[in-house]
Amino acid sequence: MKIAVASGKGGTGKTTVAVSLALSVPDAQLVDADAEEPNCHLFLRPSIQRTIPVYMMVPHVDLTKCDFCRKCADFCAFNALAVVKEQVLVFPELCHGCTGCVYVCPREAIVARQRQIGEVEIGAARGMVFIQGRLKPTEPSAVRIVREEIAQIDPKGGPAIIDASPGTACAVQDTIGQSQFCLLVTEPTPFGLHDLKMAMDVAQELGVPSGVVINRNGARDSIIEDECRKRNIPVLLKIPFDRRVAEAYSRGQPLVDAFPEWRESLRSLYREIERRVMT
Ligand code: SF4
Ligand code: SF4
Repeated sequence: MKIAVASGKGGTGKTTVAVSLALSVPDAQLVDADAEEPNCHLFLRPSIQRTIPVYMMVPHVDLTKCDFCRKCADFCAFNALAVVKEQVLVFPELCHGCTGCVYVCPREAIVARQRQIGEVEIGAARGMVFIQGRLKPTEPSAVRIVREEIAQIDPKGGPAIIDASPGTACAVQDTIGQSQFCLLVTEPTPFGLHDLKMAMDVAQELGVPSGVVINRNGARDSIIEDECRKRNIPVLLKIPFDRRVAEAYSRGQPLVDAFPEWRESLRSLYREIERRVMT
């Protein structure tokens, strides 16, 4: 089973929940799919055993075949191609590697070449399989990195807990779309609610069942619960506002290490997710 741990925005405690859930479930596989800023390793200090380079296709134009018709530039939705006088300019950092321009060129003047955009590291951490992606800082999209990470999950292994990127961009949609359940971590603030709604919409649109964890739960938690009730999405766990949790986080200490009493709550959370996926 693959469980995406997502949040509409950063800073909600998504990684705290993902890491502690993985540490509480036997044989879990932890996948850090926040390839722009992976940080699960700070809590788990994994040993990396293998690195897989990830490539994307970018166009290369043979000007001896080109008649500067502009069909490629008109086709590209990302403005990664421009035809200027007798030149075809390619902006690799804007290219999303769809290879569409290769097919629309009537003169077969474009070929796709590989360019490394990052890598996937595979190793072990505290008895778990550990997988993390790293996108090069200049690259625009982590989708291919996330796909390679998910492809590396052992299908015969234990449940995969996938720490998605914050937000609702393409890489997050891909992560949620390839999972059986989406665990949405939020905080009871108006910003938290706003971004949670977007993440709920994504999961709903993709047909992936979801549940909510309210982190830093306190006096204003009802704004999240009201929305969940309206959408018939369960609140599966509440983590109270506690300065000591933030202090443990700042020391790089997982929640279940700092407060072992949370381990059983996270096991129950996993069992509830499993029950919902199976029924
Ligand atoms: S579509 Fe092909 S022929 Fe036309 S401008 Fe682009 S590369 Fe040149
Ligand atoms: S591969 Fe796709 S995104 Fe890249 S330049 Fe061609 S059409 Fe644009």
